[in-house]
Amino acid sequence: MRDVAAYARDLVQRAERTLTLTGAGVSAESGVPTFRGAGGLWKNFRPEELATPGAFARDPRLVWEWYDWRRRRVRECRPNAAHLTLAAFARDRGPARSCIVTQNVDGLHAAAARHAAADDAAPPHEATAPLELHGSLFRVRCTECGARRDHADPIDTSSTEALPRCERCQALLRPDIVWFGEPLEDVVLGRAIARARDANVCVVVGTSAVVQPAASLAMVTKRAGGVVIEVNPETTPLTPIADVSIRGTAVEVVPRVFA
Ligand code: NAD
Ligand code: ZN
Repeated sequence: MRDVAAYARDLVQRAERTLTLTGAGVSAESGVPTFRGAGGLWKNFRPEELATPGAFARDPRLVWEWYDWRRRRVRECRPNAAHLTLAAFARDRGPARSCIVTQNVDGLHAAAARHAAADDAAPPHEATAPLELHGSLFRVRCTECGARRDHADPIDTSSTEALPRCERCQALLRPDIVWFGEPLEDVVLGRAIARARDANVCVVVGTSAVVQPAASLAMVTKRAGGVVIEVNPETTPLTPIADVSIRGTAVEVVPRVFA
């Protein structure tokens, strides 16, 4: 692994522009379970049965109960060496030369970016914030008027009446998350595709690459003539198109490549 990681490091450090795409695997060593790994299940429901607009319409209390459970688990987790190394890399290179795109909703890249900015005394730059393709566990959105806000406090799920409501229009609030069957937000996806096209190197860390269109970002870089590096302990559907595959965990590999 050492030689492959050294080769990948060379590619990344020389690249004019990089894009790093991360999935649930980058947060596994922070203690956040992946959906497909052990610990991803809740009360015997599969995420595909709960993270849908239909499930929320049928039983908003049940869906909020699951999100409240996930929020509580994630709140106890801290960014790991992979998040922190990527954040320091993004800070040092600047937003024009580096971009982090994540499928995760755990907010750990954003927490690492705040940490990196505090190290530096410079205020966190909005452009170095990660692009969160699937939203955030710690934001809510109104089901009627679409108003969004940060919301990290526990949710009262004791009854449907107790669920959080919009201050403007009193409609139910929902997690600000892209659910199964919902499209990604055009603006966020458009920015991610543009950055993938411009990147000389796309590094894909800890995603099973089965969730589209996020996984196709690596293909965008590749078609535009860039290089794709994969970091994952297992092979994925992306492995055949990766120019470099590093078998290892995010915490083992990312600091070797990006520090
Ligand atoms: P996934 O659960 O489908 O796949 C996780 C991938 O990470 C696998 O390929 C696995 O081999 C790899 N992996 C496991 N441990 C790793 C480690 N220590 N280091 C590096 N890689 C490791 O996750 P996905 O591809 O991100 O897709 C699942 C969807 O579920 C996403 O859309 C995401 O929004 C959501 N999700 C998010 C979180 C989170 O925010 N942390 C957690 C679970 C699911
Ligand atoms: Zn509203």
